[in-house]
Amino acid sequence: MEHPENDHEFHALQVNEGTSDKPMINPYMKDFKRFKKKTYTVNEYVEGILKGNISLLSQAVTLVESSKYEHQSTAQEIIEKCLPYSGNSLRVGLTGVPGAGKSTSIDSFGMYLLENKPNDKLAVLAIDPSSEVSKGSILGDKTRMERLSVAKNAFIRPSPSAGSLGGVARKTRETIILCEAAGYNKIIIETVGVGQSETAVHSMVDFFLLIQLAGTGDELQGIKRGIMEMADGIIINKADGDNLEKAKLAQAHFRNALHLFPLPESGWSPKVLLYSGYYGTGIKEIWDMVDDYVNFTHKNGYFNHRRNEQSKYWMYETINEQLKSKFYNNPEVQSELKNCEYQVLNSQISSFIAAKKVLNTYFKE
Ligand code: GDP
Repeated sequence: MEHPENDHEFHALQVNEGTSDKPMINPYMKDFKRFKKKTYTVNEYVEGILKGNISLLSQAVTLVESSKYEHQSTAQEIIEKCLPYSGNSLRVGLTGVPGAGKSTSIDSFGMYLLENKPNDKLAVLAIDPSSEVSKGSILGDKTRMERLSVAKNAFIRPSPSAGSLGGVARKTRETIILCEAAGYNKIIIETVGVGQSETAVHSMVDFFLLIQLAGTGDELQGIKRGIMEMADGIIINKADGDNLEKAKLAQAHFRNALHLFPLPESGWSPKVLLYSGYYGTGIKEIWDMVDDYVNFTHKNGYFNHRRNEQSKYWMYETINEQLKSKFYNNPEVQSELKNCEYQVLNSQISSFIAAKKVLNTYFKE
């Protein structure tokens, strides 16, 4: 038989019908409700949060943390509606260098609280300055708090990871409001004690705890004076086994050092206590100290005064943050900044003139 290619009607190039591709997504999947992310209205979020629904609370926190404009505006509406139900928790800040035992301690503090006060609900939030650089979070991770992460009345949320420290801290402060509306009456905010983040945490808590470790007698070295001045209580961890004597020595050192500071505005003299987060000793004394402080500052009016000052601080912080972001995202400013930066680097104009030029672009003076 003649070869088909010899036929003059034969086309070497032809399109075969072929087989159709398998769909990328299993068509049956779309029938599964759980694979569809349901979107909620602001009122649904608020109702869920007020009922203590953890899933809705988590999703609302995700909106707070999102940098998308539409998420932000929904988040702000939710926050506003939750605001009247907030404010009734005790907010405790906890800071310490990596390895000081923050997660071990929070696990123990939290379990103590939940076991002894069955009506309490505890939220653990974090402000992690490392996230700005690494985009990862080293704090507030559920796996670091083994018992608390499976406890019924505990809500653990890692640090928001995007943005500047100011932005991250603002998001945490907004998350506090949502947690309070969801009935969390104890809130621990953890931060790693290495930089500016302590100031941010201090500006949103009622009681600020500093975790220290016993060292070789020179433990006061390397601790910034500012951080010690912020502390309402210093707690020395790992006061167990062979370490106990050293811990006692450190306690004496810290007590002496605190005597050198003037009495804080609260009128409360910060205490120095020993404990072991790992073995769970000394935990009751720490919560008793926090309770004493709350009673003391409620009586002398400082508790409310501090909260008011914090609200004022956050108003200004938010203004500063918004101004900065509007300014730096303005296209005219961005191009003028480039020009001026070039001129400054080539010694053509001074930094001050350059700054004035860029500012004038925005404020059109
Ligand atoms: P973080 O980085 O501050 O959160 O510290 P971790 O809680 O992860 O603790 C760091 C290390 O110290 C871990 O190996 C803990 O087991 C250990 N540790 C924490 N608390 C205690 C304690 O009370 N006693 C002893 N001996 N070790 C502890």
